[in-house]
Amino acid sequence: MKARIAVLPGDGIGPEVTAAAVSVLRHVAAHGDHDFEFSEHAIGGCAIDAHGDPLPAETLIVCKQADAVLLGAVGGPQWSDPKAKLRPEQGLLRLRAELGVFANLRPVRVHARLAELSPLKTERLSGVDLMFVRELTGGAYFGAKTRTADTATDETRYTTAEIERVLRRAFQLARTRGRRVTSVDKANVLETSRLWRETAQRVAHEFPDVALEHQLVDSMAMLLLTRPAAYDVIVTENLFGDILTDEAAALAGSLGLLPSASLGEGTRGLYEPIHGSAPDIAGRGVANPLGAILSAALLLRHSLGLAGEAAAVEQAVDRVIDAGVFTRDLGGSAGTREATAAVLAALSERA
Ligand code: ATP
Ligand code: MG
Repeated sequence: MKARIAVLPGDGIGPEVTAAAVSVLRHVAAHGDHDFEFSEHAIGGCAIDAHGDPLPAETLIVCKQADAVLLGAVGGPQWSDPKAKLRPEQGLLRLRAELGVFANLRPVRVHARLAELSPLKTERLSGVDLMFVRELTGGAYFGAKTRTADTATDETRYTTAEIERVLRRAFQLARTRGRRVTSVDKANVLETSRLWRETAQRVAHEFPDVALEHQLVDSMAMLLLTRPAAYDVIVTENLFGDILTDEAAALAGSLGLLPSASLGEGTRGLYEPIHGSAPDIAGRGVANPLGAILSAALLLRHSLGLAGEAAAVEQAVDRVIDAGVFTRDLGGSAGTREATAAVLAALSERA
């Protein structure tokens, strides 16, 4: 197949880890007779420096025409003055809005060999394979805000249509996994959560083959630590999702391992590792590339429809971890290049 992939390396370790992900995608293209066309564009702090804009017009145009966007990370201490008019994250927020992505997917799997890096006991971690679906466009982060000297408000607002579309994504994903959806809300006290729960129940009728359960967000925060293996797809609103996905990320042992996808109505998506620009290790060739490489696997699956290739990349990453090729964040000494080469070798072995 033919695909156009916009690559936005960004700041800090972004260029190092996206280069790793692109090399894996090139390998998949070469071995599967696919024609992937890559083009690199500026976003974030480096785009502020070069173009005076964290999301230059050219970058936006190319991303809107691409089949998928692969992003590294944005931000860094040199652009973090809170009084600055231009901030790197504005570029990413605007890109998400322009692409119309409303569902943020974050898979969290725990590898047996990395269980000791997790704060939980190994027996609790066995079989943890979660898929979070976080609503990305609504809720308190985007609602009206007010402020006087001694009072502040953040409005939480959701429409039925916004809830339905993200819940449908969660149910569709559940059909490719364990056919179970846990919808997280705070319906005992919040009106938006009551609408969320009613909507979830209605959408569930469209998916009679998928089981739906509801959890209150405070219980869910506890259950992620006490019974993480009991859940499959977990869908929730923006603020709750932000908090719960960071909590769940800790189970996996390192931020450097975890990928994400942001999807809208069609197949186009934005793919990025969940970690930030890690300025403390940038440019040293020691960043863990696996989160970016697993983001490329999500890109193959969700934007290009190449589920077999996606699974092959995920299995190659599993084998690299099984073999103990660890970057520093996992307690090893492998560099970014060495870890990437190990993934490419594992992919070749299979072919
Ligand atoms: P942001 O504000 O951009 O989200 P953050 O403050 O959450 O950034 P990160 O940039 O993700 O932080 O880094 C947090 C810590 O994790 C740092 O010590 C960093 O070096 C480490 N880290 C993040 N990503 C990786 C990676 N891919 N490989 C190794 N270490 C990483
Ligand atoms: Mg962060």
